[in-house]
Amino acid sequence: MNRIGFTTTLVHRDRRVGMEHGALRAPVHTSVQYGFERVEDLIGVFQGTTKASFNYSRQGTPTTALLEAKITELESGVGSVCFATGMGAISAIFLTLLKAGDHLVASRHIFGNTNSLLGTLQQLGIEVSMVDMTRAQAVADAITPATKMVFTETVANPRTQIADLRGIGSICHQEGLLYVVDNTITSPALFQPVTVGASLVVNSLSKTLSGHGAALGGVVTDTGLFDWSRYVNIAEEYREAVTARQGLLQIRKKALRDMGATLSSEHANQISIGMETLALRVRQSSENAQILAEYLEAHPQVAKVSYPGLLGHPQYRRAQELFQASAWLLSFELRDAARTNEFLNALKVAIKATGLGDTRTLVIPVASTIFWEAGPIARREMDIPDGLIRVSVGLEEIENLIDDFSNAFDALRL
Ligand SMILES: *Cc1c(COP(=O)(O)O)cnc(C)c1O
Repeated sequence: MNRIGFTTTLVHRDRRVGMEHGALRAPVHTSVQYGFERVEDLIGVFQGTTKASFNYSRQGTPTTALLEAKITELESGVGSVCFATGMGAISAIFLTLLKAGDHLVASRHIFGNTNSLLGTLQQLGIEVSMVDMTRAQAVADAITPATKMVFTETVANPRTQIADLRGIGSICHQEGLLYVVDNTITSPALFQPVTVGASLVVNSLSKTLSGHGAALGGVVTDTGLFDWSRYVNIAEEYREAVTARQGLLQIRKKALRDMGATLSSEHANQISIGMETLALRVRQSSENAQILAEYLEAHPQVAKVSYPGLLGHPQYRRAQELFQASAWLLSFELRDAARTNEFLNALKVAIKATGLGDTRTLVIPVASTIFWEAGPIARREMDIPDGLIRVSVGLEEIENLIDDFSNAFDALRL
């Protein structure tokens, strides 16, 4: 017998819990409060003795819980907590698991808003080293006695550098460090961070997991590999839980309950619907991206293309080894960088917009937008030249995308 696949799991998951009227899709629970027949049960929810019940929706609903269960299965983890956005999930990890005086090693090639958040952490007294994670040795070199956590993405945006995910996993395991992997660009359809030893996995649900640009969300998944009994920053009150639950329990209480970046049930439902086609969409958009990257690489007006599926990509072999496909994110520079805006204005199918992992192809000049606030020095350190164009490749017929880019190149020549 074959193993139950990714999409089979997802499309049959709702009815597995036993549904009213034989419904195939779970109802959406929008209630803010949940009542109890007996006051002892209400008390039990507050004291943690009534199991798996709902109380006040800021800490979750049956609808967000079902989404969490699905993502846990996709990531082969032991539990998940959803948030209103991906940044909500990332800030929850940093703010609930690190304290002033702790040290964090983070990737130098990182999502712009995460980069900005690392600045906030430094203001709170958390020391941050940003290193080139394409080499695991850079992580080893940055570790100090105060280091608690290592944070990286799978494929960096916009330059598509690929961290030495396996090498970093071994170092974290040896040193007993919490290893957090942001899997947003690859998604569990292409890569499971648990396979390289990640402790926690982050996914932005706003991107390819929901896929249609119609809902924001984020999630943290515990892979079950980390020994929380050895993590000093777990508060006494959460030590009573079984070891495997301590990390997520603290994240749910200290971030979801106390900071309140809660995912709504309506959005959780929207994300669940979108996720049913995740594997199909990612396969198609990755195939489109490969063809578009090869087209751009061969084009005389293009100076450089960054895409992990190209033989010349510095981590081409690593991408082949780790991921099911090379994903849908690429970036490139025109030979005549001064004409970048003119080129982008000539595109008619690809949309000039921020955002990633949509059904539609989105293009953006990176230095003048997402990385503008970072300033020229940080941009140079992060290898982001002024003319860099990021493309999040969508599901359009590839001929239409190639025609669109080809017309825009022709327009430059006129
Ligand atoms: C978009 C993104 C995030 C943040 O997700 P939001 O849902 O937009 O808050 C985090 N990490 C990566 C790699 C992203 O691309």
